[in-house]
Amino acid sequence: MMILDDMLKHNAQFVKNKAYEPYRTDSVPNKRTVIFTCMESRLIELLPKALNIQNGDVKMVKNAGAILRDPFDSIMKSILVAIHSLKAEQVIVIGHHDCGMSHMDPAAFKQSMLEKGISEEALNTMHHAGIDLEGEFKGFGSVEDSVKESVSVVRSHPLLPSYVHVHGLVINPDTGKADLVTKG
Ligand SMILES: [Zn+2]
Repeated sequence: MMILDDMLKHNAQFVKNKAYEPYRTDSVPNKRTVIFTCMESRLIELLPKALNIQNGDVKMVKNAGAILRDPFDSIMKSILVAIHSLKAEQVIVIGHHDCGMSHMDPAAFKQSMLEKGISEEALNTMHHAGIDLEGEFKGFGSVEDSVKESVSVVRSHPLLPSYVHVHGLVINPDTGKADLVTKG
């Protein structure tokens, strides 16, 4: 609770001091871009700084690993909303080195759940409902290949307008260096 309390205390001062003024903008992304990247905490400030992204420049969608495999999951829906409702014209998928989703160990993940009080019964119920937990939380071996796969799901989407370019990058979470994987 301490962290939340601190956040709310800070927030009250932030608003009172009108510290929001430099960040005011509208909801259409200035750079007409959607970025889909990992939830990695090392990238919260580093990625925008490294790619010269200011408040208001892009729509940003995140999940664990920047993994997109299902053409109608919430990530792809968000990308489509950004394009069809918010004027985005390009998509950039950005994976990163040293990602927690690379070389995921399903056995260790399951063990972690059990240690946090999730019952075997709950896991069995999932199994009987046809939910393949190992598949659901599967990571990747090569981040470049994973970015290519995510890019491919976007590029081949039947609801993606032909003018939308889809690119893939891999970023270094220590230095911010971005390497091109694929250019749309
Ligand atoms: Zn990651």
